[in-house]
Amino acid sequence: MELILFGAPGSGKGTQAKKIAAWLGIPQISTGDILRGEIQKGSSIGLQVKEILAGGNLVSDALVIEMIRARLAEEDCQKGFVLDGFPRTEAQATALDLLLEEMGRSIQCVLSLDVSEEELVARITKRQTCGKCGAIYNTQFSPAPNGRCTCGSDDLRVRADDNEETVRNRLQNYAESSEILIKVYEKKNLLSHIESTGLTPDQVFTKVREALGHIAHE
Ligand code: AMP
Repeated sequence: MELILFGAPGSGKGTQAKKIAAWLGIPQISTGDILRGEIQKGSSIGLQVKEILAGGNLVSDALVIEMIRARLAEEDCQKGFVLDGFPRTEAQATALDLLLEEMGRSIQCVLSLDVSEEELVARITKRQTCGKCGAIYNTQFSPAPNGRCTCGSDDLRVRADDNEETVRNRLQNYAESSEILIKVYEKKNLLSHIESTGLTPDQVFTKVREALGHIAHE
């Protein structure tokens, strides 16, 4: 199944993408994770994008499209994938369509996780990510038990771009870019909104499963 997950920073996109990936046995493809991996490795791409991510701005379409082209060609994407954080611009959406067409495939469903702005800021500024397995916690809403990830690691990190000033820029970027993308996928009859304000990750996942149920069982 070929899926796209939309949602503002802090909407639970990464958490839900991981749950969907495990449920359907397909990979989660997060352009943000790939870019952060490049920064961590200190690669030339990493050096190129470090400041851009730190400021909460978008990296170039050409770069992320090329990353996605390479990733979708990998063996584990044969059965499908869940895209998390891509596409973020109209040019990326058009490039994705062309890329999938070349592969004889198409997007089957787009889910948008909708959360109020007030809750988004509260969630992001309290977010922690496990440096070992990537699990996501929130010091207020879903804290890591005894300060440790369930994988055993105590390497809980705060993302460099999860500070209040950068968050505002990222939320504004998302509001501007998502409006047009939501319309693109609404027109194609592919979009389902998942109202997620005030819900736990498990409650949101129940709604996600309901929204995907008809496709997952085809
Ligand atoms: P995320 O983990 O999805 O919140 O992405 C973190 C950061 O990575 C964003 O603020 C952007 O700087 C960059 N990024 C991730 N995905 C994209 C994309 N599709 N297009 C441009 N920049 C991206």
